[in-house]
Amino acid sequence: MATMRAVQVEQLRKPMEVREIPIPEIGDEDVLVRITASGICRTDWHVWNGDWTWAGLNLPIPITLGHEIGGVVERIGSGVTRLKPGMRVCVPFNYADGDCPYCRNGMQNLCDNAAWGFTTPGSGGFAQYARVPNADLNCIELPENVTEKDAAALGCRYMTSYRAVRSRARVQAGEIVVVVGAGGVGLSAVQIAAATGGLVIAIDTKESALRSAERAGARHVINSAGLSPEDLRESVTKIVGSKGAEVAIDAMGGQNTTLTALHTLAKGGRLCVAGLTTQDDQGQIQIPIDQMVFNEWSLVGTLGNPHSQYPDLLRLVDSGTLQPSKLISEEISLSDVQSVFDRIPSFETEGFVVVTDFQ
Ligand SMILES: [Zn+2]
Ligand SMILES: [Zn+2]
Repeated sequence: MATMRAVQVEQLRKPMEVREIPIPEIGDEDVLVRITASGICRTDWHVWNGDWTWAGLNLPIPITLGHEIGGVVERIGSGVTRLKPGMRVCVPFNYADGDCPYCRNGMQNLCDNAAWGFTTPGSGGFAQYARVPNADLNCIELPENVTEKDAAALGCRYMTSYRAVRSRARVQAGEIVVVVGAGGVGLSAVQIAAATGGLVIAIDTKESALRSAERAGARHVINSAGLSPEDLRESVTKIVGSKGAEVAIDAMGGQNTTLTALHTLAKGGRLCVAGLTTQDDQGQIQIPIDQMVFNEWSLVGTLGNPHSQYPDLLRLVDSGTLQPSKLISEEISLSDVQSVFDRIPSFETEGFVVVTDFQ
């Protein structure tokens, strides 16, 4: 039986090893993708850490994580019509069925029967090959100038920020946009909001992350170490005037960052939350609801990016308006994945770390 190298989770929170395991079998509607670039997202670490069990996540172990996949179609099932072997593709982290009321409306990110790449056996990205189910929908062909590394960057964090900035927060040219957290999602949001014409202020506790935010297009940065949400509002208004920001993006999720983001808003401001909570908050935070009423603040969540919106996103990458692979900070091999996980809790990784060596 043909085998492949894959990084396997055999027990939660126990170091992962590279194993030789069978190459996944594919069904009629599936394709097998030879992975050439695979991003390491904080979500992979959360899942390995046993988070989100409070939200019903139950990991089928042993499993291979990784859900930001760029690669080349290797084999197609007999029912696949749109994809051909040799096509370069991006694989969104959320697999949709194409059939439920949300999918039929173009909202594949809200699919009633959604599956995630990293919880679907055989579909994890930290491996040489991945099976993509319902592939005519869930694999997206790359235009000429979009690299497989771009595709890996687009698989989760960048596309999440694209939807947050463009569709959910609806950033307009000239608006002041505060981005809280300058990790993968945050730097993506900075780059996309700046390319949309927003005046971006990035907030983080790490100087090096703030320098990355400047390179991604932030006009101003604020180091929030030791500052309360009220202090931060003062720092923001010093920069942009007493009104505050029209838009805030919480790129982390959790009591601290959500409150910080909320307090930077002008009256009528929009907060978009693009991150999930951790063990600290376990899905519950407190918000100042009276202030939300008095200030007419709105708060929206955002989840992934519908497959129907990929053509617009890919066009902007193809033309060079958006440059996701500029956010790649490190290229590593499969055997380095665990050591990257070890650095994630203390926020020692920056931007996108991408596996590009699968040998
Ligand atoms: Zn659906
Ligand atoms: Zn992710």
